[in-house]
Amino acid sequence: MGIPKSFRRWLLLAAALLIVGGGTGYGYLNHQRQVAAVAPHQLAAAITQAKHASHSRVVTKQTKAGTVIYILPKNITAQSAALKHAAEAAMPTSGSHKTVVAKLATAARPLALSESEVTFTTYSIRHQQLRRHQSARQDFGTVQANGQPATVADLVSDDYSRRAINYVARQVLTKAKQQSADSLNLLLTMPLLANMQATNFRLDSKALAITNRQHKVQVRVPLTDITTYLHGQQAHPLPGKVIALTFDDGPNGTTTPQILKILAAAKVKATFFMVGTGLSTFPAVARQVQAGGHELGIHTYDHPFLPKLSTPAANDEINGKMAFTYYQVFGELPTLLRPPYGAIASTITQHEDLPTIQWATDSQDWRSRNARAIYNRINATAYPGSIILMHDIQPATVQALPRVIQSLKAQGYQFTTVSQLLGNRLLPGYEYFGRGDERLVTTGK
Ligand code: ZN
Repeated sequence: MGIPKSFRRWLLLAAALLIVGGGTGYGYLNHQRQVAAVAPHQLAAAITQAKHASHSRVVTKQTKAGTVIYILPKNITAQSAALKHAAEAAMPTSGSHKTVVAKLATAARPLALSESEVTFTTYSIRHQQLRRHQSARQDFGTVQANGQPATVADLVSDDYSRRAINYVARQVLTKAKQQSADSLNLLLTMPLLANMQATNFRLDSKALAITNRQHKVQVRVPLTDITTYLHGQQAHPLPGKVIALTFDDGPNGTTTPQILKILAAAKVKATFFMVGTGLSTFPAVARQVQAGGHELGIHTYDHPFLPKLSTPAANDEINGKMAFTYYQVFGELPTLLRPPYGAIASTITQHEDLPTIQWATDSQDWRSRNARAIYNRINATAYPGSIILMHDIQPATVQALPRVIQSLKAQGYQFTTVSQLLGNRLLPGYEYFGRGDERLVTTGK
């Protein structure tokens, strides 16, 4: 049997194209997405060229429908189920010698992850002609070294860190536009990275993008905001003779501004845990605290004993009514919780994502209401790394404060905010008493 007429015609065309293409053979096909006809006996040559061009690992799999050739970068050690599925779906539906070449391209990402993208080229022989078709690139997202989709467990080592990242994402979303109470509540409850197995994210060198069910980006969280929660990171508490003053139960229209004046004169930054009722009554004073460069936290809306409340009621004291009140005053979500009386339980912390801030030095100002007693108590019990509890609604505290600061300074103490003292890596589910003293919140009594 002689060479068919159509094939002879093709040889002439191929010769012409080889000259035009500068001898690159198949180069002229690379950017074409239409079916192109080449010689049947050159199927193997075309595939060999695809393999060699990649400087990669080649894995050939025979399937019922045809051959799948994976061209994988060196850092990807296996092909994922999703890639297999897509490669088999790309198989030509007609012809013989059906072949799919799936070429994976990757870009390095933090935490030994990669961003991957696949180009499928399919071959088949029909009517003694080789049909070659190059598909559009298909995005396979952030993957592990084994080619499997990256999971939250690749980002963080525990569930508390996952929740901390979600909370930062909620912060980012909150700032995007004016939120109503309902929309804020929605932001606080949307799943985002729902569990350690979740894969709905993309990691690049600048941000973590959390995607929704339609693979659309819900929120881009700058990596700089979450670095401390990622694998291999730890808190960096301030070393040396540092101490954190904290003030609860404000803001108060009279005593809080007096406290602010004393702190400003002494160039001391402190942390204020505010109640929702005070925030509603004295929003301007609250903003004054913020303007003074102090750190802010919440102390619930109504100052209840949280473990005695029902879950929805406790939630309203932290996330619901409280978060919205805080948001209305400061335009952002709160980041620290000090529970009234220090009373907390895991039944509460599993429903909210704020670190619990306790104290190690209790001024007992609410009990003594006496400036000398407050001064003596702090002097006797303060130590480097301690968090000191005071109340900015107590006139005796205002009276005692200048001497307290003076004395601590004379002993060589430096003052700092709570998160700086603890090293800016605070986790939900934990309670912090001072530097080096953090505990997982238990079920409570
Ligand atoms: Zn209190």
